Amino acid sequence: MFEGVNASDGIGIGVARVAVEPDLSFTPHKPEDAEAEKARYEAAIEKFIAQTNAQIERMKANGLENEAGIMNAHIEFAEDDGIKEMVIGSIDGGMCAEQGVSDAYDMYYNMFSNMEDELFRERAADIADVRTALLADLLGQEMVDLSSLPENSVIIVHELTPSMTADIDKQNVVAIVTETGGRTSHSAIIARALEIPAVLSVADVTKNIKNGDMVVVDGGKGKVIVDPTAEELEHYNDLAKKYAADKAALEAFRGVPTKTADGKEVLLVANIGNPSDAQGALEHDCEGVGLFRSEFLFMDAKELPSEEEQFAAYQKVALAMKDKPVIIRTLDVGGDKEIPYMNMQHEDNPFMGFRAVRYCLNNPDQYKVQLRALLRASAYGDIKIMIPLVTTVDEVRKVKELVEVCKKELDAEGVKYNPDIEVGTMVETPSASLVSDLLAKECDFFSIGTNDLIGYTMCADRGNDRVAYLYNVYQPSVIRSLKAIITNGVKEGIMVGMCGEAAADPLLIPVLLSFGLTEFSVSAPSILRTRRIISQWTIEEADALVEKILKLETSAEVRAALQAAAK
Ligand code: PEP
Ligand code: MG
Repeated sequence: MFEGVNASDGIGIGVARVAVEPDLSFTPHKPEDAEAEKARYEAAIEKFIAQTNAQIERMKANGLENEAGIMNAHIEFAEDDGIKEMVIGSIDGGMCAEQGVSDAYDMYYNMFSNMEDELFRERAADIADVRTALLADLLGQEMVDLSSLPENSVIIVHELTPSMTADIDKQNVVAIVTETGGRTSHSAIIARALEIPAVLSVADVTKNIKNGDMVVVDGGKGKVIVDPTAEELEHYNDLAKKYAADKAALEAFRGVPTKTADGKEVLLVANIGNPSDAQGALEHDCEGVGLFRSEFLFMDAKELPSEEEQFAAYQKVALAMKDKPVIIRTLDVGGDKEIPYMNMQHEDNPFMGFRAVRYCLNNPDQYKVQLRALLRASAYGDIKIMIPLVTTVDEVRKVKELVEVCKKELDAEGVKYNPDIEVGTMVETPSASLVSDLLAKECDFFSIGTNDLIGYTMCADRGNDRVAYLYNVYQPSVIRSLKAIITNGVKEGIMVGMCGEAAADPLLIPVLLSFGLTEFSVSAPSILRTRRIISQWTIEEADALVEKILKLETSAEVRAALQAAAK
């Protein structure tokens, strides 16, 4: 049995599909039969095109038109006449197909990556992808295609990146196991959003589990069992049934308002990563969107999304949510969210570097594209703008100034938008927490980002296993910070929400209710469970619990006290 981070609840029982980077090393040799060598090369192209076409169809069927368009470029580079001529020429000259493909695509890669025009430079990545696929095929290496796995597949992968999400076929994937990532890593957030049981940070699992192994994944406990015994299988089948029964019981909380046992109503909204998540969030009975991580739009693209593309995405969410509130966070690039085509410079400490609102304010023309798209979409629903990684009042003022500039432009163009659009901030840095009284005067709302707030408060990276013992929301310092932020926001009369993962933490919910939090933004599958927990507490009971835990000195004591009081 292997153990890792319990990242997404549920039991998955299935067959391992190990997605490793293919080993593309080869020893060049002179083929005996040049014609047969050419046929091998042609067959690799044909197979690649057939697979890519199938992938394009699946993407289109899933509403991923843009991504499908990108795949067409792959086909063009596979059947490009110039490249083909080079490869065939090399084979005629006595080289093996591997060498011919490798040299030709390397040459084209270098040529494209040195071009003046940014659009051409970005095509270099497509050329590299085609080279990898053709070489892998010629070398007999199997590349696992996440978008077309057989039924009951358990994905075993080094890292689950946000860009892989578009590929995962939810119907056939029963669990995910990775070698990296903590509970609040984006891999974990993605797995929970897809409702796929996941265990992360299992050392060397891509080496220790083989393709075809039977695997049981207990996402809630962080356990992975290979080749289970008959008793183990029975046990986990029972657990899976119990899990399903609990899920069914939660249905009683569908379609009812979210309120405490003594009737205090709060807003229960969803975190989403792309427009197509909005439908799923509604199916889980969300009361709006508390965090749309707009960076996923940028990550899934090959170049900066245009104003039209962004407008279409934001409008789609606004229309889907009708009059429900939709908080869209402006680009939170940097840290663990890399966007290759943005060519961010290497930094020794990117988590404290040139990222999020810092990057955006430094690139106002680019930022305005997003702000204009958000304003335009605000004519179609209750869209609010949220600023990530704020540390100073100045940053909020500057963003608001840019919003005003965009409004004037739209006025001049006669374009509709909501003139009263709200602008709020994430409170996810110790600095923002410490000046939350000042920020509250400048903002229309707060949303607390505990994922980062815990990390920056504890100086403990959310993805680093060795400091995971420090990274938790029960730390007295973090609890004090939450109390200050919520109290300052409530005092100023603004809405205070939370969109960090802690908003769905069953142990923390009474504490947040007592502090006065009025909006809980959670992953879609956590909505009904969160509503049930909120309904179990009166404010008086929550206040009494908080009085107790504020006197405690360690996170272990706080956790134990919350656990003892849990309903
Ligand atoms: C957070 O930091 O809590 C948050 C919601 O933002 P992200 O996880 O995207 O950094
Ligand atoms: Mg954050």
